Amino acid sequence: MKTQKSLLVILPHPDDESFPMGGTLAKYAFNHTHVTLVCATRGEAGIPGKSPVEAGKIREAELRRAAAELGVSDLRFLGYHDGTLAQVNAAELIGRLVDLLREIRPDVVLTFGPDGISGHPDHVTLSERITQAFDRVALPAARLYYLAPSEATLQGCGVAPAQEVAGGPVASIDITDYRLRKWHAMQAHASQNPPFQGNPAEQIQHLACHEYFTLARPCGNFADTEDLFAPLSPRQIFPPQPLRELLRATRNPNSFSSE
Ligand SMILES: [Zn+2]
Repeated sequence: MKTQKSLLVILPHPDDESFPMGGTLAKYAFNHTHVTLVCATRGEAGIPGKSPVEAGKIREAELRRAAAELGVSDLRFLGYHDGTLAQVNAAELIGRLVDLLREIRPDVVLTFGPDGISGHPDHVTLSERITQAFDRVALPAARLYYLAPSEATLQGCGVAPAQEVAGGPVASIDITDYRLRKWHAMQAHASQNPPFQGNPAEQIQHLACHEYFTLARPCGNFADTEDLFAPLSPRQIFPPQPLRELLRATRNPNSFSSE
């Protein structure tokens, strides 16, 4: 019987894990959670002037170093070519994701939302395919979270926080104590010219202390949370008007004065 919590993170490119959500991965990996990181490509298109094969080798090595910094020991590649996920046969991709979900049986799945954060077609496509696979497998009690725009994504991907986060309840993960891990993982992606290079003790002060996710599955009116694995509780409905007046009256005895 499974005792350890399981977090499955599925992303298209090396560096998608560290910049916007590295603190969250480290926080769970170092706190009794089995984290599986699945990278759909090797980021072959991500180093100008390098051949795809060369770039893929460099970026795979960078991701392996980043994963080690984040405490993620279970790292897998799906082997698709960077920039082509939208052209991959949908049934094939969904089938591979279904197999992964059935093998790992995660409690929580993390990926990009339908916006892909940056709008990159690989991000948008993978989000859609994972959601389809998640719905098909229907693991009991499993959750699917999408990365939400925030200061952390602004720092990592240049996408500003939304005024209001669209979609389900928000999980805000406090990564204050894991910023150094995140910083080292970010710097491991040297080919991507990571931000905040320099003295780690100084540079981590610039990293946002929270990373945000929205609950995509199950759908429902759940309360916001600070833990991806915490039991879902119904959102508190503010007391209706007559009850509010009664509560106010009971707090203020003078309001019951008889005329
Ligand atoms: Zn990416």
